[in-house]
Formats: sequence, structure tokens, C-alpha cells
Amino acid sequence: MIANFGYKDGSGDFYIIIDTDKCNGCGDCVPVCPAGILEVRDNEYDPMADDLMAAVKEEFRKKIKYSCSPCKPDNIDYTLPCVKACQFDAITHSW
Ligand code: SF4
Ligand code: SF4
Repeated sequence: MIANFGYKDGSGDFYIIIDTDKCNGCGDCVPVCPAGILEVRDNEYDPMADDLMAAVKEEFRKKIKYSCSPCKPDNIDYTLPCVKACQFDAITHSW
């Protein structure tokens, strides 16, 4: 399942997207995030599954554009720390 954490406003779509079929809850993305916005929690998208998934902490979901901005320089070749840490390609960003 595709889990979208974020929001949309007049300036764009700001979502961190976790592919729960790829994410195994390993947690490698959590310590590399300088803003501390990621966590590993029960898979809320499949309560019957006995597994974990990465998620954006509740308190950051409405402001990730600002929380993530230090990680998003103009260099288009730069790979975001969270994306780089995930060996399963489970994280993408909408912006
Ligand atoms: S590093 Fe990837 S697989 Fe591991 S918890 Fe984060 S998103 Fe999931
Ligand atoms: S872009 Fe940076 S601040 Fe945003 S979730 Fe990834 S590592 Fe954290």
C-alpha cells in the first residue's frame, strides 16, 4: 500500500510517501533525518499485518515542507538522506 504523509496547499503537494509493501520497518531512515521527523511504528495501513513501517511523526505532517527544506538544496543530483538510507527504495517525496 502507498502511505502519504503530508499536505497540499496553494504552493504545491508536500508528501512523504512510504511504500508499505517495500518498507520492512528496519528503521535505517530514522537516525539519518536531521529534523527527526521519521519514526517506525505499527503498520497502520494493514492492522492485520504483524509488521512495522516508517512514518512521519504526527506533529510534523502539516509542516514537512518546512522541516525538510534544509535537506533540499538546489542541486538536483543530491539524494535526500532518508531516501539514500533506504536500501529498499521505500521512500519517495512528492516535491
Ligand atoms: S529505511 Fe526504508 S525499509 Fe527501513 S524503515 Fe525506512 S522506509 Fe522502511
Ligand atoms: S528530506 Fe531530510 S528532513 Fe525530510 S524526511 Fe528526509 S532526511 Fe528527514
